[in-house]
Amino acid sequence: MSTYIFGHKNPDSDSIVGAISLAYLKNKLGENCIPTRQGKISAETKFILEKFKAETPELKTSYAGESVYIVDFSDLAQAPEDIKEATILGIVDHHKLGDITTDTPLECWIRPIGCSNTVIKEMYDYHKVEIPKDIAGMMMCAILSDTVIFKSPTCTKIDTKAVKELSEICGISDYKALAMEMFIAKSAVIGASARDLNTRDYKEFDMNGIKVGIGQLEMVDISVLKSRINELLLDMKLMKQENKLHTVIILLTDIMKEGSQLLVVSDDASRVEKALNTKLQNSQAWLDGVLSRKKQVVPFLQPQF
Ligand code: MN
Ligand code: MN
Repeated sequence: MSTYIFGHKNPDSDSIVGAISLAYLKNKLGENCIPTRQGKISAETKFILEKFKAETPELKTSYAGESVYIVDFSDLAQAPEDIKEATILGIVDHHKLGDITTDTPLECWIRPIGCSNTVIKEMYDYHKVEIPKDIAGMMMCAILSDTVIFKSPTCTKIDTKAVKELSEICGISDYKALAMEMFIAKSAVIGASARDLNTRDYKEFDMNGIKVGIGQLEMVDISVLKSRINELLLDMKLMKQENKLHTVIILLTDIMKEGSQLLVVSDDASRVEKALNTKLQNSQAWLDGVLSRKKQVVPFLQPQF
């Protein structure tokens, strides 16, 4: 019997690389684990997998009757539909604790740090397992992605230290240059529809029974989207209807200017204004210094619902 390891829906690089890096560790420890994914990989993740010659984990969305480890989430909203019929052996994460519960004891590695792959690096160290060069390179990229090259307020000393150690293992000393290449790959918008952009890194949250969708586009320069803002807002209205959401938020995050253009479609936008201490104009506002959905948006929004 194999155990499957996967990250959240709409997987980002941390979810995909985390499945691969944790599966390698677990296999070394004598378990039989297969990395999988719940959805399409991003342009950024494709860049990482190609750079380090790794196979894309297989797509698998149903886990009834299986044993699993989950990485980079603990919310039911980000889990496969039949997760309640799976046995969760463990959770490796760096988000707020979600609403997933289990019937059996489990292993939990949940830390308030910048990336699940930093947690996995600590697991390798704890078990004294050597990290292969290419896996180290991918883990390093996942950490640089989640911490926005150390600029995100979620980044800790543990993350920067992990990147330095991983860069030595993979033999890439100029990791910031590699990270910029990665963010340029991530920033590609040509040919992408409004829906592609709005859902590129999109998560739904249950906030005291109210459904809120929050997407984020991290880009090297958001000005290339200026002419498409109205199109994005129109599509957000459709997403709101289709998924019966109270609020849809998109953050256009400019990693060089270090802030986010906020787009809001809501039944009551004043709640978002209050939460984020801003005033919307044409459903928009600039949030200076806001880079992290997890740390700078979600915790302030939750109490408003
Ligand atoms: Mn993630
Ligand atoms: Mn993550």
